[in-house]
Amino acid sequence: MSETAIEVLQRVFGYRAFRGQQQAIIEHVAGGGDALVLMPTGGGKSLCYQVPALLREGTAIVVSPLIALMQDQVDALAQLGVRAAFLNSSLDAGTASRIEQQLLAGELDLLYVAPERLLGERCLSLLDRSRIALFAIDEAHCVSQWGHDFRPEYRQLDILHRRWPDVPRIALTATADAPTRREIVERLALEGARQFASSFDRPNIRYRVTVKDNPRQQLLSFLREHEGASGIVYAMSRRKVEETADWLCGQGLAALPYHAGMDAARRAEHQRRFLREDGVVMVATIAFGMGIDKPDVRFVAHLDLPKSMEGYYQETGRAGRDGEASEAWLCYGLADVVTLREMIASSEAGEERKRVERRKLDALLGYCESLRCRRQTLLSYFGEDYLHDCGNCDNCLEPARHRDATVDAQKAMSCVFRTGQRFGVVHLIDVLLGRDTDKVRQHGHQQLPTFGVGKDLDERRWRSVFRQLVATGLLDVDIDGYGALRLTEAARPVLRGEAVVHLRVDPEARARGGRTRGR
Ligand code: ADP
Ligand code: ZN
Repeated sequence: MSETAIEVLQRVFGYRAFRGQQQAIIEHVAGGGDALVLMPTGGGKSLCYQVPALLREGTAIVVSPLIALMQDQVDALAQLGVRAAFLNSSLDAGTASRIEQQLLAGELDLLYVAPERLLGERCLSLLDRSRIALFAIDEAHCVSQWGHDFRPEYRQLDILHRRWPDVPRIALTATADAPTRREIVERLALEGARQFASSFDRPNIRYRVTVKDNPRQQLLSFLREHEGASGIVYAMSRRKVEETADWLCGQGLAALPYHAGMDAARRAEHQRRFLREDGVVMVATIAFGMGIDKPDVRFVAHLDLPKSMEGYYQETGRAGRDGEASEAWLCYGLADVVTLREMIASSEAGEERKRVERRKLDALLGYCESLRCRRQTLLSYFGEDYLHDCGNCDNCLEPARHRDATVDAQKAMSCVFRTGQRFGVVHLIDVLLGRDTDKVRQHGHQQLPTFGVGKDLDERRWRSVFRQLVATGLLDVDIDGYGALRLTEAARPVLRGEAVVHLRVDPEARARGGRTRGR
C-alpha cells in the first residue's frame, strides 16, 4: 500500500486534483476511520469510497439501493481497470456464484450489493470468509422512515458494525437536513464517525420561478433563451411528456420524450442522443436523470411542481455540473397545488406519512411564493446558513413586489365560506366577478353578498390571490371535493380583521398592467 490517494486518483481515474473535501474524506477512511459524508448530487461522492477501496487491502462492499445503476457503475469501473462486480436479484445463480468465488479469492476491488441481498445469511457468511476493505453505504438517507426513499432493509445495516467492528464504514447521502442526519447516525450506529458536510450551494445555477399562465408559450420563450443548448424539461405525466415533446418538435426544437412507459430500446436511444448530441431538449418524467452524468446540461425546466424541495434540488442539480452558467426554471400555478394536495390526500399512505408529505410540499410552496433570495430559502431548508443575497436568482435580480391584500383575501375567503366550502376556484371567481353562469344560478349564488364584490380585480389576479392563499395555508383543498377550497384555522384571524395578508404581485400581471420598460 505504497501509493497515495492522489496517485490513485491520477493513475486510475485520470483526474488531476480532488474536489472539495474528497481528499480529507478519503484519507480518513483509508486510515480506518468511519465517516458520514453529506455532499450534493454531482459533488463526487463515489470517489470517496472508490479510492479508499483501492488503497486498502481486500474488497470494498458497497451497499446501494440503485440496482438499475449497478451494471453501469461496474462497467465504468471496469473501463478504468478496476475489478468490480455486483450482486443483486438480476443475476442468475451461476453468475452470482462465480462472483462469490472471485470475492473469496480476493480478486475484487469493489463489490456492489443490494441491501436485501447483503442481509441474507448466505451473503453475511460469505463476507465472514472474505477480506473486507471497507463498507460504503450509499444513499444513506434510505434509513429515514420519513424520507422520500425509505428502505426498511437499511434499518438493519447496523449489523455491519456489530459483526465487523474493525472494518471502516462510510455512509453517503445528498440529503442533509438535520433530522435525517440524526436518524442516519442513530440507525447506522455512526456515533463515532467523523461528519463531512459540504455546501449544497450550486452558485452557477440561476433559479427562476414563474407563475403558470400559458405554460407552453412560457416554456417556449424560456427555451428560446437557450437556443442550441442541451437541457431537461420535467413534466408530471407520461402523456404530458409525449404531448409536450411533440409540440416542441413542431416548433422546430430537437425535443425527445423519455418516461418509464416507453419501450426500453426507444428510451435508451433517446438517452444516448441526449448524451452524445448537442442541443437536445429531453422532455421527461422524473424517471429520467438518476445516474445521468452529462456535464453541460444548461437548463432544467419544470412544467409541473415537484413534490418536495429534495426533489426540486436533485432535479435542478442536473444542470451545470461543469460549473458553467446554467438555469433552473419552474412554472407553477394553483392547479399544481390542488393536484399535489389531492394526490397526497388520496394516497394509501398512513396519516403520519401524509403529514410529512404535506409539510414537504408546503416547504416547496413557501419557496415558490417567497420574496426572499431563492438560494437563501433553498439552502436554509437543507440546514445551511446563507446570509447574503446571491445576485443570481429572479428575486435578487428583479425583486418581487408585494402588497397588502387583506381586503382581497377577506373577499376570497368569505366567498369560500358563503358558498359552503364546496366549490373550486373557477366557480369562486365567477361569483366574485358577478358572472351570470348556469352554476351560479343553479345554486342561487347571485343572491350572496359576495356576488360581484370582486370586480376591481380581473380573473388572473383572483387566481393569483387564491393560489397564494392556498400556498400559504389560509385555504385548503378538500380531498373528496374535486378541488373544492375550504378555510383553515389560520383564516379566522384574517376574516375577523385581526391579521393582515401580504401577497406578491405576480410579474406577468404587472407586465400586463402596462410596465413601461419593454423588451
Ligand atoms: P455524486 O455521487 O455525488 O452525485 P459522482 O460521484 O457521480 O457524484 O460524481 C459526479 C461527477 O463528477 C462524475 O462525473 C465524476 O467523475 C466527477 N468527479 C468527481 N470527482 C472528481 C474530481 N476530483 N475531478 C474531476 N471530476 C470529478
Ligand atoms: Zn438570490
